[in-house]
Amino acid sequence: MKLKKTGLGTSAVHAGEVRPGIGGAVSMPIFQSSTFENDGDAGYHDVRYIRLNNTPNHDVLHAKLAVLEGAEAALVAGSGMAAISTTLMTFLSSGDHVMHQHALYGGTHSFIQHDLKDFGIDHGDVDPTRQETWEAIRTDRTRVFYVETLSNPLMTVPDLQAVVDFCRQHGIVSVIDNTFASPVNFLPIPFGFDLVLHSCTKYMNGHTDIVAGSIAGSAEKIAAIKHKLDHLGGTLDPHACFLLHRGMKTLPLRMRHQNKSALEMARFLAEQERVIRVNHPGLPGSPDHERAKTYLHGTGGMLSFEVEGGAAAADRMFSRLQLPIVAPSLGGVETLVTRPVTTSHAGLSAAELERANISEGLVRVSVGIEDTEDLIADFRRALS
Ligand SMILES: *Cc1c(COP(=O)(O)O)cnc(C)c1O
Repeated sequence: MKLKKTGLGTSAVHAGEVRPGIGGAVSMPIFQSSTFENDGDAGYHDVRYIRLNNTPNHDVLHAKLAVLEGAEAALVAGSGMAAISTTLMTFLSSGDHVMHQHALYGGTHSFIQHDLKDFGIDHGDVDPTRQETWEAIRTDRTRVFYVETLSNPLMTVPDLQAVVDFCRQHGIVSVIDNTFASPVNFLPIPFGFDLVLHSCTKYMNGHTDIVAGSIAGSAEKIAAIKHKLDHLGGTLDPHACFLLHRGMKTLPLRMRHQNKSALEMARFLAEQERVIRVNHPGLPGSPDHERAKTYLHGTGGMLSFEVEGGAAAADRMFSRLQLPIVAPSLGGVETLVTRPVTTSHAGLSAAELERANISEGLVRVSVGIEDTEDLIADFRRALS
């Protein structure tokens, strides 16, 4: 369904929907069919087939996502990593160079460092908050500049305007992983990025029950990525499409609560005697606070903090917490806690951890949709 420009909450429910509903159905049914009848004159990439990401379940998701992202076109993929790897492989070939911020999601970091390297694609990392250092890293084969809206686990906000300007000036494709912010807190395409990626496993779906990815941008770039995805095969199956579609309808509701709740939690934790440091861009003392205020509509549901007493004290706190679940991943309705050195950053050496400012005792929290008072009471008890 085409709508006049509406708010994100309305678009999340109504944009892209097939109306009147198929068979009168209010919710989009699942089309569990690998192939579809065909009249013979469609080209290969237009034949309806699950791997080609063009079943009715894909179509509605693409339409809804494009509206939410304020983009011409969008595409879903079998996981966040399928979206990321396929996008990078679409715009980089042997001899090319990719610039990226130094602290990236582990899978992306490893893909750039090892897998792309094997294809003869070189890389250089930069501090995304210090644009004066970027030109020294750029080469005449730099094709892509890749950043994340809020980095894991310290919640660094890059100088997003400088990234867009730098890429325009040098004819580089700007790509941003917006997973931690979601479209509720930042809209990269209207802002000026070429492509936005999400691990829809996280906030987009929000219910910790599927893995999925998405890409949005110009129709031309999305068509090029779809072509690559059709061949690499990173499709999203119709049942997962259905679940993602359902989850996305409540994204604005969930995220607005999570923004508020995480900020209250960050303020509470910052006041605790046994907490040494809280990383959350919504706190006025955060080194990212000014950039967050300039660029983001909300500061998200993620925070991290250090407890006095290091890893042992953090583990003791985990064993006392009653509501949060100790697990990696993020962005779901339930609050999750993890120590990044044992999960997302387990692959880093002691020197790399130190350089990245990630201590053994650092705790990362993905704040869910529980009542904030209950979470605060639980943390207060566990820290006492
Ligand atoms: C989880 C995550 C990914 C990878 O997504 P998957 O759905 O697990 O493949 C990429 N980027 C960020 C920021 C993530 O948090």
